[in-house]
Amino acid sequence: MSQSRATKRRPQQDAPDRPARLLAWYDRHRRTLPWRAKAGERADPYRVWLSEIMLQQTTVRAVGPYFEKFVARWPDVTLLGRASLDDVLRMWAGLGYYSRARNLHACAVAVTGDHGGVFPDTEEGLRALPGIGPYTAAAIAAIAFDRRTMPVDGNIERVVTRLYAIEEALPQAKPLIKEMATTLLGPARAGDSAQALMDIGATICTPKKPACALCPLNDDCAGRIRGDQETFPRKAPKKSGVLRRGAAFVVTRGGELLVRSRPEKGLLGGMTEVPGSQWQAGLEDAAALAQAPELKGVGRWHRKAGVVTHVFTHFPLELVVYSASVASRTRAPDGMRWVPVETLDGEAFPNVMRKVIAHGLDL
Ligand code: SF4
Repeated sequence: MSQSRATKRRPQQDAPDRPARLLAWYDRHRRTLPWRAKAGERADPYRVWLSEIMLQQTTVRAVGPYFEKFVARWPDVTLLGRASLDDVLRMWAGLGYYSRARNLHACAVAVTGDHGGVFPDTEEGLRALPGIGPYTAAAIAAIAFDRRTMPVDGNIERVVTRLYAIEEALPQAKPLIKEMATTLLGPARAGDSAQALMDIGATICTPKKPACALCPLNDDCAGRIRGDQETFPRKAPKKSGVLRRGAAFVVTRGGELLVRSRPEKGLLGGMTEVPGSQWQAGLEDAAALAQAPELKGVGRWHRKAGVVTHVFTHFPLELVVYSASVASRTRAPDGMRWVPVETLDGEAFPNVMRKVIAHGLDL
């Protein structure tokens, strides 16, 4: 069959006992996760929501310690809604994609102020909150409120495209994947069905070498029967962003470092950084150096050997790092401030800045 004909063919839903098989498997093999309710217990919407926001574009392993820290400090949404944004950003530092932390805080404020500290229990109500898109709304509705809906994350996409051998490439295939994933829901326990698929995707139907022998869906998995299951999901070729270049300036005054806050809106909004140039494709070193902060007593910048590299979702970045030290009374330029080096861990630096500082201070 040609690719175009295969693309148009709709997968068959021909195994009505799949939902029951899925739930039976989940009851025996479910993962234990810090945010997950124990078998038979009701899920806490706050924990489900917090984990789903943290897990966006981040692994379960990376999220675990952050989740524990957050619920220890803010055990419910009302307490988080009363926290300052700065505190939330500080606790979030290192998890990346900082707009999520800002939305997390805005959402907690909205739930606390507009909903009396109680999350809405429908997809529609959840989607009206800051930072909650279609996937997160479906995940919370299914897992916390047992609404009959299927949230489709990357793991579920992989399982479903293999199960039905969906030839259409991502992202165009998303509506079809959602439709087919929904056929795996039984009459009840939507949240458990979704979590079963998530677990199968994470532990059995892995990107490479899926352990099909252990899979409760293996009898009638189209990908396994064809023998090309690893080739799903099909993906459209990736466009990689253009390399941007820039300079960062690591300035010390005794035991203090010169920093500033990024603008509230945009990439890494509100996060802390050392002063730097713009990040532009093809930026020459001399043009980047010309954007150094004006500081009394800096005659010459010392260029550190090598560069710091970082990859954002839509572009790679290369930063040249310059260092200087200034006299103890030197004033910070407008919009900048000195912070003690020993308290840097508590500052809301994004990962790229932590790399820059480590490079600049030879840590
Ligand atoms: S049988 Fe294999 S390919 Fe099919 S869903 Fe299960 S693990 Fe994935």
